Amino acid sequence: QPVDADSETPAAPRQVVEPEFDISQFAEYRRLKATMQQMAMTGVPNPYFTVHEQVVNDRTRIDGRELISFASYNYLGMSGHPAVTAAAAEAVKKYGTSVSASRLVSGEKPIHGQLEQLIADWVGVDASITMVGGHATNETTIGHLVGHGDLIIHDALAHNSIVQGALLSGAKRRPFPHNDYETLDRVLSDCRSQYRRVLIVIEGVYSMDGDFADVPEFVKVKKRHQAMLMVDEAHSFGTMGETGHGIAEHFAMDARDVDIWMGTLSKSAASCGGYIAGSKELIELLRYTAPGFVFSVGMPPAQVAAAIASLQTLDAEPERVQKLRENSELFLSLCQDRGLDTGDSGQTPVVPVITGNSMVALRLSHRLKADGINVQPILYPAVDESAARLRFFITCEHSEDQIRFTVDRTAHHLAELGFQTASVAG
Ligand code: PMP
Repeated sequence: QPVDADSETPAAPRQVVEPEFDISQFAEYRRLKATMQQMAMTGVPNPYFTVHEQVVNDRTRIDGRELISFASYNYLGMSGHPAVTAAAAEAVKKYGTSVSASRLVSGEKPIHGQLEQLIADWVGVDASITMVGGHATNETTIGHLVGHGDLIIHDALAHNSIVQGALLSGAKRRPFPHNDYETLDRVLSDCRSQYRRVLIVIEGVYSMDGDFADVPEFVKVKKRHQAMLMVDEAHSFGTMGETGHGIAEHFAMDARDVDIWMGTLSKSAASCGGYIAGSKELIELLRYTAPGFVFSVGMPPAQVAAAIASLQTLDAEPERVQKLRENSELFLSLCQDRGLDTGDSGQTPVVPVITGNSMVALRLSHRLKADGINVQPILYPAVDESAARLRFFITCEHSEDQIRFTVDRTAHHLAELGFQTASVAG
């Protein structure tokens, strides 16, 4: 194969040369425009980039109108909580709005270490490290810890940041069927010996389906095959377990049985950024060598302080986690009573209502908005057409009335739309 003399990078196979740098002629841009045109033809306004004019908790404000909200990850009401807002403001006064450098050089503040110890204690492991984005944390950590000659085997529904990290790493990437640790076990029995390292990646709670992994079973598989196990707790940190400490607490398992815990601070912790938690050695290695940490700025003071205050507030107000659980159970059981398809959702604050048709999902969300309810449709190609849905994120701040009203209106419109779709199709 021809090799570029300067970089030693193999030249790409011969391609049709694009005549000029014109984004509007890119095939991917034309595909995007075609999808948007299709959406516009339904007559339903574009559901993306809706502007929210206030903190989003159980309610939001759109175009000056207050709506019940089921579309944000503010599961525990920490964003907008006075203690969290005050802590962020205080940190800005003390440390400014940026740490202005990588922490490795001059960006380290006392609150960075404080947050990292708090996270490690929350998760139940020795140490943790925080980075500026949740997506970036997965990308750089996965991209860095494995490489050529290794295997990354992840749940088929893994988040994009996990897949991107796997692509970056250069390791062989293989998905296994959703939550299916038995198939994973069989696959590893067949192929483990071909690889130096194997990294299994799963999530605590899956944000499309609202179901969760049987982590102790995955621990058995990883031990049997001498693999590493990484669990992304973006949606389980703060929401699962008696006191919200996550999926390890839910299963009453030893958190040290998982090699790499990952989570985001943008959801239950009302901040922004990601963390990796695990052994002292893992965190030391990342602190000195992970590109997305070493060559990137440290988390800004306001975000660090907000995350600390959120975790402290949640420990002081455990009833929030309890209320979140009650609200989620109520929402799910009401949906089930009305015969709505909620897939495998259960015991988590994410409840999908599967419409099986993107247009029905789009129209349903539009009708609910007219009723004063904001919920995001998930359309093809984000999911298969048959899996198109509305996705409800429950918060501890929703009232029983809001939940009953929402399920009632959803069932009502879905019955009408289902009838229309069936008659059009017929
Ligand atoms: N992992 C999972 C499972 C997620 O759902 C998300 C985002 N929703 C991320 C990682 C990325 O986190 P962030 O949005 O905080 O960058």
